[in-house]
Amino acid sequence: MRCPMGTQESAEVLLAYGACKLDAETTAALEKHMETCPACRESARGLRSAWEALDAFEAPPVSPDFDRNLYRRIAREVSWWDLLVRPFRAFPVRQGLPMAAAAGVMLLAGVMLYRPAAPPPPPPDAVQAVVEELRPDQVENALDDMEMLREFSHAMRPDAVEAKKM
Ligand SMILES: [Zn+2]
Repeated sequence: MRCPMGTQESAEVLLAYGACKLDAETTAALEKHMETCPACRESARGLRSAWEALDAFEAPPVSPDFDRNLYRRIAREVSWWDLLVRPFRAFPVRQGLPMAAAAGVMLLAGVMLYRPAAPPPPPPDAVQAVVEELRPDQVENALDDMEMLREFSHAMRPDAVEAKKM
């Protein structure tokens, strides 16, 4: 037979041989071929030993209260972080992460686009205009107020009163 290595059906033939599911005719042909082909021999031996290991494997017995212990442990070990991110785990990770990132970008773009524009700071001319708009009587009133405050603070300080008497 033609060497199954490197051909499309090689995996199927060798897997079937390893699982002892190859028909007798092909098995005979493959074994005849393996006498002269170390690559197929190695491959078939590896597959056979893998199958034998699987056959020999025995799962340990499950304890009767396995489910109860498992759920108790889950309830105890679920952290606040897990509770927080659990809704986002509904997405498979591969799809969820880009979706979450895209949602974040869109949200940011929306905030930037629809944020009401802050009023620009008034130019220096405007400040000047406000100052010039003060009428003289307003300035006089302000000066009067300042004078009154100064006299008040002097009156409240006894040493200042003493100084005044001198
Ligand atoms: Zn071969």
